[in-house]
Amino acid sequence: MKLITTAAEMEAEWAAMKGRVGLVPTMGALHEGHLSLVRRARRDAEHLVVSVFVNPTQFGPQEDFAAYPRDPDRDLLLLEAEGVDVVFAPTAEEIYPPGFDQWVEVRGLLTERLEGEFRPGHLRGVTTVVARLFCIIRPQRAYFGEKDAQQLRVVRRMVEEQRLPVEVIGLPTVREPDGLAMSSRNAYLSAEERKAALVLPRALELARRMVEDEGVRDAAAVRRAVEELIRREPRACIDYVAVADYETLEELAEIDRPALLLLAVRIGATRLIDNAALTPRSP
Ligand code: AMP
Repeated sequence: MKLITTAAEMEAEWAAMKGRVGLVPTMGALHEGHLSLVRRARRDAEHLVVSVFVNPTQFGPQEDFAAYPRDPDRDLLLLEAEGVDVVFAPTAEEIYPPGFDQWVEVRGLLTERLEGEFRPGHLRGVTTVVARLFCIIRPQRAYFGEKDAQQLRVVRRMVEEQRLPVEVIGLPTVREPDGLAMSSRNAYLSAEERKAALVLPRALELARRMVEDEGVRDAAAVRRAVEELIRREPRACIDYVAVADYETLEELAEIDRPALLLLAVRIGATRLIDNAALTPRSP
């Protein structure tokens, strides 16, 4: 496995690669969720590149960029064990040279709501770094988790709008045995908060049961029930509960098509997001 830290070296490496290149972009502090993407990509690609880069431009000024968990030595061991060919771990200057002004942004409904509303600039930071990684690494395929459902859809839209020759693959959320979605930020939770965080998977399960088992189609009723459940957990504070069209993330009044329940909830100082597909029963 090669560790590459500059764009120039990465471009030289690409020139020597023959066959399909797959990319899994990450911010490190790897867990089984990341590794599930790596394993799938390993099966597909002849050359597998994993990027490890804590992208400063996707964090707001009051957010956790400085505190974000970092464990590069452990990450390298895990990636080596998965048979990764290249780890691309650039410095911030390498991705954002002095005077950088090449922002890549998806505008409109898809980015205005949800994370776009609660984390101004976050999605623009994501599309910008992903576009730069695609430009340097030139993968045919790139792999993203459904865990970050809005990010996945925004990256897909960015690829369409910029006409980039990359196939974006979305893969299911990997969970802890008790249902909590794996996340690098789970490391911030105290033992008490870790228990409280189970309110997220419970809320998703409640919504799924209402829509899929009981046939509820009134999105407001689902949102209300989910909000009530979360409010009963004293350590939890809701940023948003949304019932949205599965693809466009447009808010729904009636769940008459495939939908997503999207949650952003703060548990103490830790902000967690999660989501679940809701498939309405046919009438
Ligand atoms: P991050 O390091 O948080 O930027 O995540 C890197 C990639 O891993 C993104 O595409 C995430 O959606 C994906 N990912 C994060 N957590 C999970 C999970 N629990 N299951 C599946 N994919 C995940």
